[in-house]
Amino acid sequence: MADFSLDLNEDQQTIKDWVHEFAVNVVRPAAEEWDEREEFPMPIVQEAAKVGLYGWEFMANNMADPTGLTMPIALEELFWGDAGIGLSIFGSGLAAAGIMGNGTPEQVMEWVPQCYGTADNVMLGAFCVSEPDAGSDVSSLRTRAVYDEANDEWVLNGTKAWITNGGIADIHVVVAAVDPELKGRGQASFIVPPGTKGLSMGQKYKKHGIKASHTSEVVLDDVRVPGSCLLGGKEKLDAKLARAREAGRSGEKQPAMATFEATRPSVAAMAVGIARAAYEYSLEYAKERVAFGRPIIMNQSIAFKLADMKMEIDAARLLTHRAAWMASTKKPFVAGEGSMSKLKAGEVAVWVTEQAIQILGGYGYTREYPVERWHRDAKIYTIFEGTSEIQRLVIARNISGLRIE
Ligand SMILES: Cc1cc2nc3c(=O)[nH]c(=O)nc-3n(C[C@H](O)[C@H](O)[C@H](O)COP(=O)(O)OP(=O)(O)OC[C@H]3O[C@@H](n4cnc5c(N)ncnc54)[C@H](O)[C@@H]3O)c2cc1C
Repeated sequence: MADFSLDLNEDQQTIKDWVHEFAVNVVRPAAEEWDEREEFPMPIVQEAAKVGLYGWEFMANNMADPTGLTMPIALEELFWGDAGIGLSIFGSGLAAAGIMGNGTPEQVMEWVPQCYGTADNVMLGAFCVSEPDAGSDVSSLRTRAVYDEANDEWVLNGTKAWITNGGIADIHVVVAAVDPELKGRGQASFIVPPGTKGLSMGQKYKKHGIKASHTSEVVLDDVRVPGSCLLGGKEKLDAKLARAREAGRSGEKQPAMATFEATRPSVAAMAVGIARAAYEYSLEYAKERVAFGRPIIMNQSIAFKLADMKMEIDAARLLTHRAAWMASTKKPFVAGEGSMSKLKAGEVAVWVTEQAIQILGGYGYTREYPVERWHRDAKIYTIFEGTSEIQRLVIARNISGLRIE
């Protein structure tokens, strides 16, 4: 029988310490400034690239860990530092995951490194699925991809909404409808290479939290990309479309969904990092703040809150590590375990950061202290990469075997 252990191995511990140090020395000190500026923190991303934290090799090394835990461990530490900056560093990973989930090995080799560039020439990636009228309902995408056989080119038209790194990225991975009647089964993913004509940034959103992360519309106006930019290749797409048309049903997943499933434990780990930041801060504060002649932690109402915060964070992390381990050891998410991790961690982050504000009282409500920022940052984790409601839907459908609406 295989040994069971929850201990981190030496490599995992080394990476955890290394990312934590970067979070302490570089990310945390910059967090407030970039939140206020509401701008993409390029100097910090460049710094991350210099030390090797932003880059394809770092992602590849993390993914090579057979236990699957290195990625969530690293992300928890980075997002403990700051979620807006963390997402600016990790955002390209969504595009990379989109390419790895749907591309051929040659396409992965060609395009994934370009989502990161080099330490001297940082590049960015964006994963463009959501649209103004299709967020949770990704099967209803209106962005069209039409094949121009004479030129072996695909022509993309449409508008994407809420895209992390949208319009400032070098590589945009765009999911579009090839045959809208087939809904999700008629979609494909395309690479839009750097400098392609017709792709532009629409409005940049002003957000509640993760303000350092750039979120924009992406407008595609007769964007022409070579046939080789269709991820997975034309032959595979034609076969998939034919099967879907004949059978009315194909076992294959929508390209966007395959990506989201793979990235859910990573997204969960980010939320765990924010929650842990707020918990640690409020624990220290509660030991120091005196009211009625004693530290406020001496009141059970505060101490029990902290006990619950710690327990919920640990529960979220365990679900996250389980899902990451299952994904990397190719165990299927039979009960929606990826969704469970993201759902739990997102809701824990919102709850814990709110409790932290409560523990800090009036100070917690001001921008003088970081907990209000962490609360604003946490909220996105119940919305993007599948809302909490959609995660519950995935779990409910998995455990029941029924098409719950
Ligand atoms: C900061 C930020 C960054 C983002 N980054 C990206 C990105 O990089 N790439 C990308 O493609 N997208 C991105 N998104 C989009 C994000 O994934 C969507 O906003 C999200 O999926 C929700 O879609 P929606 O906003 O259209 O909400 P809707 O789908 O309109 O949902 C509205 C409400 O209805 C509920 N609801 C909808 N359908 C059901 C149902 N069947 N059952 C129960 N409840 C339901 C939802 O849970 C939600 O509460 C980002 C969004 C934000 C805010």
